[in-house]
Amino acid sequence: MRYNTQMIVHLDRLQHNYELLKQLTPNNQTLFMVKADGYGHGMVNLVRFACEKLKITEFGCASLGEAVLLREEIRKLEFEIYVFSDTSLWTMKTAKEYSEKRILPVISSMRDLDFILGQKDFRYLPICLKFDTGMNRLGFPLSEVDQVIDKLKKNGRKSVYHLLSHFSSSYINLDFNKKPEKQYELFKDIKKTFKASGIDVERTSMANSGAIEQNFALEESHIRPGLMLYGPYCYLDRKLPLDKPFLNISTLETNIIRVFQIKKGQEIGYGDVVIQRDGAMAIFALGYGDGLTLNYRGAKIEWKGFSGEFVGRMNMDMAMVLFPPEAFKHLKEGEKVILWDKDPQVVTKLAHEAHTITYELLLTISSRIPRQYTLK
Ligand SMILES: *Cc1c(COP(=O)(O)O)cnc(C)c1O
Repeated sequence: MRYNTQMIVHLDRLQHNYELLKQLTPNNQTLFMVKADGYGHGMVNLVRFACEKLKITEFGCASLGEAVLLREEIRKLEFEIYVFSDTSLWTMKTAKEYSEKRILPVISSMRDLDFILGQKDFRYLPICLKFDTGMNRLGFPLSEVDQVIDKLKKNGRKSVYHLLSHFSSSYINLDFNKKPEKQYELFKDIKKTFKASGIDVERTSMANSGAIEQNFALEESHIRPGLMLYGPYCYLDRKLPLDKPFLNISTLETNIIRVFQIKKGQEIGYGDVVIQRDGAMAIFALGYGDGLTLNYRGAKIEWKGFSGEFVGRMNMDMAMVLFPPEAFKHLKEGEKVILWDKDPQVVTKLAHEAHTITYELLLTISSRIPRQYTLK
């Protein structure tokens, strides 16, 4: 566990982001995606706050294990939990978890549907169906729409609780990328087919952050935002009709273990990497043991008005950050450094420079770094 390095999670910023989201989508209900431990921020704390203070009552997990954890950790609040991919719907043991803990599996294959319709325990389980409109991953293919409807009817089911599909590339500008539009058209066709069949569809959703940021696919009862509620951009050209920006909800802070002057040509760390210019070298208390991968080499951070660059090979427990020579007298051993804070562009840019996406960057921050929750 780290001592002086922490990820501070600002719940007030989550509230701020949610208020902005409501301005963008006043007519949609929010199903807040909190899978993978709330994108690395700590799922249980986020859900408790979102449910109690923001009155969000629907949450999305990826795995049944996450859903069970939520139910066990938060017993006093009323909320719905969906499990989207790792439903593990194949034994009576998991069937019991769903029915007893009131967890909603998203059904995305005929095998899952048959299992559910065949279980007495599931007689009253609300049916959530995911269709594949072009992502080619999970979901019923379009060719099975009629068969799904048939099976529901044969089993006396009169309604579908939630009908959904997922975009493969809503983070790309819709002016140039026609795929989301094609997917959305197919989704609307599926809805129509259901309605025409006499099966009632209670809820629908399609939009993830990229779509919401582009004001797209909002003609459904629900939206399913993940990343944007945590602050960072999904759609990189995000320009929203709001008078305030979304805020990154986390602050990652560490401290400088050592500072020294270094000359071009000197070697540093494992592998004796040769330094390309004179500078002030700061050793940070962060390494790949904390989730900062070897791919951070070359990525930059701003501190006290100076640009520092991750150089050499990332260590398990330390990172070497090269600042310009003039920074030397401003960097102090033992002082705090902030890698990112409320500006979502900082995390977004760092992810890009570390050759990854913001989702991965946030999620790889390991459990060695304590998460602290604050309302300011
Ligand atoms: C993760 C996920 C989302 C949220 O995606 P973001 O890009 O983080 O907004 C929405 N729907 C499903 C099914 C997901 O798995």
